[in-house]
Amino acid sequence: MVSDTELDALFERLAASKFRSRFHLNAQDRAYFDSHPRSQINSHASKFIAARLSPAAPVNDGKQTPMRGHPVFVAQHATGTCCRGCLATWHGIPRGKQLSQEQQEYIVGVIAHWLTKEAKRPAPQQASKIPVDKRQKHPAQKGQSSQADLFSDQPAFLKKT
Ligand SMILES: [Zn+2]
Repeated sequence: MVSDTELDALFERLAASKFRSRFHLNAQDRAYFDSHPRSQINSHASKFIAARLSPAAPVNDGKQTPMRGHPVFVAQHATGTCCRGCLATWHGIPRGKQLSQEQQEYIVGVIAHWLTKEAKRPAPQQASKIPVDKRQKHPAQKGQSSQADLFSDQPAFLKKT
């Protein structure tokens, strides 16, 4: 198990990294996180680590962790536990060797710690899927002159047919 002092030192280093500190849960991943028990999230983390990181030569190493789609993925990028290269750089875990059970538990602990901190931030607002300016423009009008665009902003009743 990772000690609090170790975690504090690590998270201080992560906070100093512009790249790592940029990562936060988007609205969708936050909603998933908020609606699932922590035990379940942690067990997903264990499974991801076992499947994607623990082999001596993981498949697609360096690209095996998506940027979104699960709160654990985001936590992995934020904590340098996303691939074997980052594990070596940030956690001194050598590449080319299968991860021990203890190392895997350490990684899950780091991810869980980041998620606990992240959960204290206000939840992000769900962004509208399509920006307003694109939503109002019909695809068929693409490529027409700006003059035509002036007429594309018709009242709804004219567009009905
Ligand atoms: Zn990485």
